[in-house]
Amino acid sequence: MAALAEPSPDGRFGEFGGRFIPESLVPACKELEVAFRAAWADPAFHAEYEGLLRDYGGRPTPVTECRRLSERLGVRVLLKREDLAHTGSHKLNNVIGQSLLTRRMGKPRVIAETGAGQHGVATATACALFGLDCVVYMGEVDVERQELNVFRMQLLGAEVIPVSSGSRTLKDAVNEALRDWVANVETTHYCIGSVMGPHPYPWMVREFQRILGEEARTQCRALLDGRDPDFVVACVGGGSNAAGTFAGFADTSARLVGVEAAGGAAIGHGVPGVVHGMKSYLVQDEVGQVNEAHSISAGLDYPGVGPEHSHLSATGRATYVTAGDAEVLDAFQLLSHTEGIIPALESAHGLAWVVRAAGSDDLPSGSTVLLTLSGRGDKDVAQVRDLL
Ligand SMILES: *Cc1c(COP(=O)(O)O)cnc(C)c1O
Repeated sequence: MAALAEPSPDGRFGEFGGRFIPESLVPACKELEVAFRAAWADPAFHAEYEGLLRDYGGRPTPVTECRRLSERLGVRVLLKREDLAHTGSHKLNNVIGQSLLTRRMGKPRVIAETGAGQHGVATATACALFGLDCVVYMGEVDVERQELNVFRMQLLGAEVIPVSSGSRTLKDAVNEALRDWVANVETTHYCIGSVMGPHPYPWMVREFQRILGEEARTQCRALLDGRDPDFVVACVGGGSNAAGTFAGFADTSARLVGVEAAGGAAIGHGVPGVVHGMKSYLVQDEVGQVNEAHSISAGLDYPGVGPEHSHLSATGRATYVTAGDAEVLDAFQLLSHTEGIIPALESAHGLAWVVRAAGSDDLPSGSTVLLTLSGRGDKDVAQVRDLL
């Protein structure tokens, strides 16, 4: 199987992926797969999806050459600017695609789950645009921590349901969303926020994020006299911005590097297991319990990773590294004052690795690096102020 191509018919990327779900949800996943396949082969669907991302979402986002940062690091850094997309990150690409599919399947209602609130806000945004009912499940602990995002979702017309079971965080919200889906599958689409979950989600979400990688490849070739960058780097939470980025460069000789948070490094420190409908690397304890992840960036605070990344790591097509909180805070400030761009803390993980590796054998001086800046840091400035 070529890297970043279609998975096997049962949704496998090598030994990873698949569809590990209750029998009652299999028809919904199959219905979604059929709808996605038909839509993705339909030029009219592409025209509407790409038209919305252009006229509503602000695409294409630019690639920015970082002159002062490059001089400082001794490597040439180009940034793919997803921070400039509507809602401030790459997440809109996925939720616009899934909302169009929801309408195509004739379903009036969308559910989602969210931890930090960013996927909930993106989903509520797309549902407002399409006039779809939107329910977002969120652990009680996260509701308290992220009250501004709860208000944003409500402003956008979504109903936020606090989840009081278990540890009252993301994994409990996922369980509650699955319960809702089982009960209301005829009328409801479950909008998953990253390249995670049962087949076809990891593949479908990667395809909806592919637009960012394909734009970046074209933009890099224009800047580099037809060449590709030597390195393509992106942060990895569930792995959707990285998968979309890598998809654009799969058939080039660029080295692909995914950067996980050291406190939630599923590939770096995990073992293979099954969770949330898929087989992938997970951070687990000795008895197979999924551990809570810890990172300063809520968007990377997830103990698993998309199955395709586990496969790309196993085959060696991509390399996965980690960045720790302290170097991420340094990178956050460095980009702010060398380039006038305040990055999301998630994206600062990618930069932290570039800063650490620049000039070493892992990233030799003089290399050209395309780094996906997955989002803007406005949401993080209060937290960073308190940490400094
Ligand atoms: C949600 C988010 C991430 C993590 O999600 P991926 O699926 O790994 O891309 C990274 N950066 C930003 C800005 C986000 O909002």
